[in-house]
Amino acid sequence: MSKTYPPPSAAIDPDSSRSWLRRAWPLVRAHRWMFGTALVMSGASLLVSVQVPKLIQDAVDHSIVSDEVPLSHYLWWLIGLTVVMLAVGYLSKQILFRAAARIEYDLRNIVYEHLTGLSFSFYDRVQTGQLISRANSDIRAVQMYLAFAPYLLVQCGISLVAFAYMLAIDVPLAVLAMLPMPLLFVATRRMQRSMFPVSWLIQARLADVATVVDENVNGVRVVKSFAAERSQLALLQKAATSVRWAHVKDADLRARWTPVVQNLPRVGMAIVLLYGGHLVIEGDMGIGSILAFNAYLLMLQVPFQVFGNLIMLGQRSSAAAKRLYELLDERPEIVDAPHARELTGARGDVRFHDVTFGYGDGPDVLKGFSLRLRHGETVALVGPTGSGKSTVARLLPRFYDVREGSVTVDGHDVRELSLRSLRDTVGIVLDEPFLFSASVRDNIAYGRPDADITDIERVARLAGAHEFITELSEGYDTVIGERGYTLSGGQRQRIAIARTLLVNPPVLVLDDATSAIDVQVEQEIHAGLRTLFADRTTLIIAHRPSTIGLADRVVLLDGGRIVADGTHQELLASTPLYADVLAQADEQVEEVGSVGR
Ligand code: ADP
Repeated sequence: MSKTYPPPSAAIDPDSSRSWLRRAWPLVRAHRWMFGTALVMSGASLLVSVQVPKLIQDAVDHSIVSDEVPLSHYLWWLIGLTVVMLAVGYLSKQILFRAAARIEYDLRNIVYEHLTGLSFSFYDRVQTGQLISRANSDIRAVQMYLAFAPYLLVQCGISLVAFAYMLAIDVPLAVLAMLPMPLLFVATRRMQRSMFPVSWLIQARLADVATVVDENVNGVRVVKSFAAERSQLALLQKAATSVRWAHVKDADLRARWTPVVQNLPRVGMAIVLLYGGHLVIEGDMGIGSILAFNAYLLMLQVPFQVFGNLIMLGQRSSAAAKRLYELLDERPEIVDAPHARELTGARGDVRFHDVTFGYGDGPDVLKGFSLRLRHGETVALVGPTGSGKSTVARLLPRFYDVREGSVTVDGHDVRELSLRSLRDTVGIVLDEPFLFSASVRDNIAYGRPDADITDIERVARLAGAHEFITELSEGYDTVIGERGYTLSGGQRQRIAIARTLLVNPPVLVLDDATSAIDVQVEQEIHAGLRTLFADRTTLIIAHRPSTIGLADRVVLLDGGRIVADGTHQELLASTPLYADVLAQADEQVEEVGSVGR
């Protein structure tokens, strides 16, 4: 049994009119105890650290300048405080990083869960490489802010305490020492403002690189078969050059601004030494005080820079969050109707009523398409490439919704049925099936993970796959390579047929699903296929006369309309286009020859 993992602890607020932080708030709230503890502890550790300069001041003034208290007294205190600081600091970081990891887990789950729910039309539109690379870096950016912004704010808050101590030592000196701080803040902001667009550019260009790499890896067989490695490499180099340009620009800006930002605080120290030194010489201030003062000033610098960082992080995360929300606000087009009906024990009476359909905003692909498949009937759908055959197949399990007309199963409009029950009822096998990098057994059992091996073997036999599976090195336990590429096209198709059969759907759609199976092998499995089709409604999209021969009836499609309907013999006699389509298919079969087997 597979292990179960906890669901995300919260959801993103769906109200898109709210600010990004408000929408993300439930995620932080879900871990409020962890965050609260981490913040209180880090605040405590910082408060302790603020005591250290005071201790040094006292040590210098009372043990070194005058000999009132033994130095070891302060030393023990210093050691004690350091231990407390280390321990509390360690614990607070531990908890904070844990909480951050949880937020990341939640965000990843939320995004992935949402992606799996989106409809085909969404995946038709987006580039998956871009999508994944962007989602990954966006999740990071949002998580960083949510988890670390409060922590940075606490750090900034502590600077106020440090400043208060400075004021307590000497008001004019404190004010003077602070003079360069606003400048530091302005410089940091300007630095970030000029660097922000560049960091943005880097992200976008990295996503471009990811797309090229993704296409190259996924399309490696095409690339190699056209010996196009060089031109693909050139594409990658072009994308990588853009990334390099952006990185160089980034480094340039960094080099220009960092020295300014790092050295401005030293001006403050110079002022302290100059004016404070004068006060000490005049005897108006102790040496310990000036030492402590300098230490506070050092503490103050950090928040001024951190605050700038916080603003930049905020901008970045806000942009990242907006992109994530755009994805999360993307509503799946195909969803269950409010009171969707569960279709159980369907007979499999399928009708297309005057269907008009096109993809997205594109032109109509099917126009006034009407077809009836009676219970138990096997119908072959034949037509020239692009005539809309696969489109018909995709409408039946409701991968897309029709523009006009309707598709019904047992008299129920597919839009009124629950997707789950509809897809249990309608099994579809595609011509280029996707297999997972898992064992053959798990691939076949994909739709029914609890199936036992006898069932798996039975469907594999029917699909003509049992024999070659047993010849694999580890039989049904053989793990197949990515997308099943260690198997031939025909073998993959047979596993895909077995996978769908195991679910035993009353309606079966085979979209060119036997196209890569050797004609002879197909003949051998015809007996099996006939048994398969016997008691269910089957729509086969095919070109080979042998496959078409399995059907009771043939429907000829051209330009999204049915132009002929009858038996194979009738169509051969009456419709010249039918013979043309078959002849073309024959040529193609000869052309591709051994490729698919
Ligand atoms: P066939 O299976 O007969 O070759 P299809 O049903 O695949 O034809 O395609 C019919 C038409 O629909 C073609 O013009 C094709 O370009 C278009 N089409 C197919 N799939 C999509 C899609 N996902 N997005 C947009 N257009 C598509």
